[in-house]
Amino acid sequence: MGELLVDGGRCQGHARCWALAPETFEIDEEGYAHVIPGRENSGDEPNVRKAIRNCPERAILERETNEASEKASEVSAS
Ligand code: SF4
Repeated sequence: MGELLVDGGRCQGHARCWALAPETFEIDEEGYAHVIPGRENSGDEPNVRKAIRNCPERAILERETNEASEKASEVSAS
């Protein structure tokens, strides 16, 4: 599971992500969404998956991180 981020170039500020997963997304003064700091790894939570699927602009991305791939290799090693 990668690190969540909102692509500011695609986000059109519908706030649908925030409506579906307010514990992970926040809306700034201009109406654009951001991932709440510390919630970058919540991408496997059902609400968050729903928010990703429901973003009309496909602006919610998951970036693979070294940490995530380290975790993945730890899991496969055990
Ligand atoms: S649903 Fe998508 S386009 Fe709308 S505010 Fe959230 S990230 Fe931005």
